[in-house]
Amino acid sequence: MNHQGTRTYNFNAGPSALPLTVLEKAQQELIDFRGSGMSVMELSHRSATYEEVHNQAIANLRKLMSISDEYEVLFVQGGGSTQFAMVPMNFLTPEKKAAYIMTGAWSEKAFSEAKLFGQVYQAASSKDSNYRYIPSLDEVKFEASDAYVHLTSNNTIFGTQWREFPNTGDVPLIADMSSDILSKPIAVNKFALIYAGAQKNLGPSGVTVVIIRKDMLELANKNIPTMLQYGIHAKNNSLYNTPPTFGIYLLGEVLNWVEETGGLDALTKRNEEKAKLIYDAIDQSNGFYYGHADVNSRSLMNLTFRVKDEELEKKFLAEAKKEGFVGLNGHRSVGGCRASAYNAVPYEACKALSQFMVSFQQANS
Ligand SMILES: *Cc1c(COP(=O)(O)O)cnc(C)c1O
Repeated sequence: MNHQGTRTYNFNAGPSALPLTVLEKAQQELIDFRGSGMSVMELSHRSATYEEVHNQAIANLRKLMSISDEYEVLFVQGGGSTQFAMVPMNFLTPEKKAAYIMTGAWSEKAFSEAKLFGQVYQAASSKDSNYRYIPSLDEVKFEASDAYVHLTSNNTIFGTQWREFPNTGDVPLIADMSSDILSKPIAVNKFALIYAGAQKNLGPSGVTVVIIRKDMLELANKNIPTMLQYGIHAKNNSLYNTPPTFGIYLLGEVLNWVEETGGLDALTKRNEEKAKLIYDAIDQSNGFYYGHADVNSRSLMNLTFRVKDEELEKKFLAEAKKEGFVGLNGHRSVGGCRASAYNAVPYEACKALSQFMVSFQQANS
C-alpha cells in the first residue's frame, strides 16, 4: 500500500490498472443504473438504456481514434487469442498466403493459429535477438498476392513497439493492438483490421474491440461458425448475441475518462512522460539496470529491464514488492523486470517507481 490510500502501484501486464474515477463511478451507479432500478449487468441487452451505453462506447472510440465511416467498430468476446483464429478463418483463402511479422510471443501465437487454416509464412522476424527490436520497414517481405500482412503493434512481453508501420498497398494490413490501442494517435486508415483485448488499455477483460474496414466484410469467408464471422457482428451492431454488457459499460467509462482528462493528445504526452521517468532511471544507472529492448524499439507501455546481477535482481523485486509495487516480475519467458505503464497507470506511480529504482541502486552499489 502507499500514498494513494488503499490503491496500490499497479504495474500488472493485463488485466491492469483502471482509472480510479471510473471505478468510483461504477460503484456509485452499481445498484441503480441511471434510474433503471437495476445494475447495468441486470439490464436487457435489448433495452434502450443498455443500447445507449453500447452506442456511446462505440461513438467515443470512433471519436478518440478518428475512425472514419469506412470502418465498423465491433465488440466481440474470446480475447485477442480468439482473433488469432478468427482472422485466418475469415480471410485466409486456399489460393493465398498470409504474411506474419514476428516480433514476439504473441506474434508466434497468431502465426501458429493461422497455420491451422492455410498457408502462412514469416515476413520478417527478430527472434534471433530474442525479440529485442522491431524489424525495419525494408526487412519486411511480402507478396502483392497475399491474403494479408499481420503484425503485433506492441510486444507486451519483450517491451518493443512499432513506431512507423509498413505500407502494404492493396494487401490488407492487420494488427494486434491489444497492448497499445489508444495509447497514442494511430492512422487507422493504414489498416484493414485492428483488434485488441480490452484489458490493457481500454477496460476489463471479456471485451475485445475489432475495427474493420467495411470492404473486408465482403471478402470474408461465410462458411465458418456464425459467431466467428465478422460480418454477423457488424450486421447486428455487435448485438447478435448477448454482448459482455458490464465490460462494454466500463470500457465506455474509460473512454469518457480519456476525454475528460484531455483526450488522446494529453494521454500520449502523459504516457511519454511516464515511460521517460523509468527509462531515465535505467539509462542513468551506469549499467546497474539495463533494458531488454533496443533503445529505438522501446515500448511506452511495457518497460522491460534487468538488474545487473541475478541476486540483486531478486532483491530488487522483493523490495519493490514490499514498497507496494505490484506486477514488476518479467514474463517467465524473458525473466527480469517489466513495468507495464498502460494508460490508466498514474504518473505518480511511475514517479514513485523511478525514485525507488534510484534509491535501490544507491543502496546497493
Ligand atoms: C494480452 C495480449 C493478447 C492476449 O489477449 P487475451 O485477451 O488474453 O486473449 C494478445 N496479444 C497481445 C499483444 C497481448 O498483449
